[in-house]
Amino acid sequence: MQRKPNARLEAEYNKRGSCCEYCKEKLPFINITRDHLVPKINGGTLNDGWVFSCIVCNMRKSNMNLEQYIQFSIVSVCKVLRKVVARSYMISQEEIDKIRYYHKVMKSCQQLSTFKPTV
Ligand SMILES: [Zn+2]
Repeated sequence: MQRKPNARLEAEYNKRGSCCEYCKEKLPFINITRDHLVPKINGGTLNDGWVFSCIVCNMRKSNMNLEQYIQFSIVSVCKVLRKVVARSYMISQEEIDKIRYYHKVMKSCQQLSTFKPTV
């Protein structure tokens, strides 16, 4: 999926750090999506606030609000840790990366939960 050119939105993307606002992954503008802070299914519109999001975070967050996404991230980290403990604390690089990813997501969601739309 590629985003259509939009100079105003791209300028805003660059202003916000040219990255996914959940996991902080740097991505070209054409690969970024916008995620509703209040899920569409709960009646949320872009006017209720939105963030730039990579497709992975956008799909993972799905219909969750920020608090639910934090909760989901905690559960996901716990699942990884349970496996690591069961293996006598042997941890793979993939598991380390997963924990790092969810840590960034949790931190971002906490910061964004006080987000006030400026539009
Ligand atoms: Zn992301």
